[in-house]
Amino acid sequence: MKKQTKAIRTQAKRSQNREHSVPLYLTSSFSFESAEQGKALFEETEEGNIYSRFSNPNVAEFVEKVCMLENAEDGIATGTGMAAVFASMAGLLKSGDHLVACRALFGSAHQVISQILSKWGITHAYVDATATEAEWEAAIQPNSGTAPAGRPAARMVYLETPSNPGLELVDLAMLGRLKAKYGFILNVDNCFATPILQTPIDFGADLSVHSATKYMDGQGRVLGGVVVGRADLIQPIRFFARHTGPSLSPFNAWVLSKSLETLDLRMERHCRNALQLAEALERHEDVARVLYPFLPSHPQYELARTQMSAGGAIVTIELDGGFERIKAFFDALQIASLSSNLGDSRTIVTNPNTTTHAKLKPHEKAALGITPGLVRISVGLEAIEDLISDFEQAISVSADVLNEQV
Ligand SMILES: *Cc1c(COP(=O)(O)O)cnc(C)c1O
Repeated sequence: MKKQTKAIRTQAKRSQNREHSVPLYLTSSFSFESAEQGKALFEETEEGNIYSRFSNPNVAEFVEKVCMLENAEDGIATGTGMAAVFASMAGLLKSGDHLVACRALFGSAHQVISQILSKWGITHAYVDATATEAEWEAAIQPNSGTAPAGRPAARMVYLETPSNPGLELVDLAMLGRLKAKYGFILNVDNCFATPILQTPIDFGADLSVHSATKYMDGQGRVLGGVVVGRADLIQPIRFFARHTGPSLSPFNAWVLSKSLETLDLRMERHCRNALQLAEALERHEDVARVLYPFLPSHPQYELARTQMSAGGAIVTIELDGGFERIKAFFDALQIASLSSNLGDSRTIVTNPNTTTHAKLKPHEKAALGITPGLVRISVGLEAIEDLISDFEQAISVSADVLNEQV
C-alpha cells in the first residue's frame, strides 16, 4: 500500500461497538484482568496498556502513522514539539557530551541548548546552515584547526531544514556522509517540511523530531510533538519520557491521528498556494525580496529540489520601510491573520523581529538575516486568488502610506 492509504487506514483496535472512526480512549489508566496480568504487564512479559503516561491506544496509533510516514523503526509522542526536542536530547546526552547545532533554530531550541543543557555540562557549537562540508566537519571533529584544544567530538548534530524564518537549507546528504564517517547521532527537526515533503531518515538521519502542533494538526487546535527514528535510540528517549512525564494527551493524539489522514492532501494545497503567492510577490515592484525554496532565485534552489518534493508553505518576504511599513502592511491585510503560529489552514503573517525573534541580540539577528522589514508568511489553504489579491493590495497600500509620510 502507498503511504497515503496507510495514513488513512492505520487504526487502533476497535471495541466491541465496531466504531468506524477510532474512539477516543480518554482514560488515565487501564485495569488488569488478574493479579497475574498486572505482574506480567509490569515485567513486560505481556504487552499492553498500564497508564496513559506510558502508553495509550490513541497515542500509539498516532506514533505508528508518523513512523510509517518517516520510514522510522520506532517513536514516542510528547505534549508539545519542544518536549519532543528536549526529550531527544536529554534522553541521549550526558555531561561532557558535545552538541553541534545549526545556527538557524527555533527560538526555544536555542534556549534549551544554550541555557539548559549547558547547566548539565553538555557543551555546544553553532554552525551556519549553509556552511560547507569542511566547515561542518571542523565543528564536528575533535582537534581540528578551528576547534579549542581538547574539545570532544560531537555526540549529536541537531538541525532544522528549512529554517525559521530565513528558509535556509542544510544539505541532508552531506550531513549523512559526515555521520557515516564520524558516527554522531543525526537529529533533524522536520517540522517545516513534514514527512510528506522530506524524509531525513532516508538521507542518514537517526532521528526526526516534529512539532505536531504545526502541519500535522494543520488547523491550529492542539499542541503535540513526536520523535521517531532508530529503535535503539528511541528506547532511552522512551525511558526518559516515561519517567519525566511529557506525555501527549489521548485527546490531542486522537485529533492529530485524524489529521494525518489529510496531511498529504493539505500539503499539496499548502505548497501550491505558497509557490503561486511567492511568484506573485516576486513580480511585485514594492516587495524588496522574496524567499521560497522552490523559487529559482532561492540561493539553495538546486539543493531544495534534491531533498524536498515541494517547497513547503512558508514564504518569507522583505519590505522596505522598517516597522512603520510593517504596521501599515499588517493593518491593510483583510484575510491573513496576525499571529506567531504557523502551519494552520488560515494564512498567518508574523514580523519575527518584533515577536518570535525579538529577544535575540542584534548580532544574532544579523547572523540569521532578521531585519525589521522581514515578514514570515505561513500560507494557508484559502483560494489562492483571494490570497494574492489581499497581499497585493496591502503591499500597495502600505507603500502609499509610507510615501505620503516622506
Ligand atoms: C513550533 C516549533 C517547535 C516547537 O513546537 P511546540 O509544539 O510549539 O512546542 C519546534 N520546532 C519548530 C521548527 C517549530 O516550528
